[in-house]
Amino acid sequence: MRCPFCSKNNTKVIETREKGEEVARRRRECVHCKKRFTTYERVEMSPLIVIKKEGVRESFNREKVLKGLLRACEKRPVSIDRINKIIDEIETNLRNRSSSEIKSHLIGELIMTKLKKEDKIAYIRFASVYREFQDLDSFKEELKKLQRR
Ligand SMILES: [Zn+2]
Repeated sequence: MRCPFCSKNNTKVIETREKGEEVARRRRECVHCKKRFTTYERVEMSPLIVIKKEGVRESFNREKVLKGLLRACEKRPVSIDRINKIIDEIETNLRNRSSSEIKSHLIGELIMTKLKKEDKIAYIRFASVYREFQDLDSFKEELKKLQRR
């Protein structure tokens, strides 16, 4: 670890505090200039790769999922905490799969499954954008399926 004051590459850890499980806080001292500073260490997760319909690969983007969910849940009684929880659950689900390459439609399906339980209106909004309901009939069909529950 390079000292931020004198740039010499010789520092020692004088104290470590585990903050929860994700972040470790370390107090360090530079052997040369004796100045002290703090570093935070977190586990690096390997990126999830999403394969889109056209075969293009991109890394999993929480922001993108969040935007879609916020749009679907606009003016619905779904809190931002709840939305973040949903994204956490989806990300955990994706990470627990044997492959780190995920087909994009799987993410869409997972979001719809979660929304269906959370809020019917939000679900319909998301599904109508995601499935691109071709005509009014297929949209009505989806509504009917919901009402049957
Ligand atoms: Zn130094």
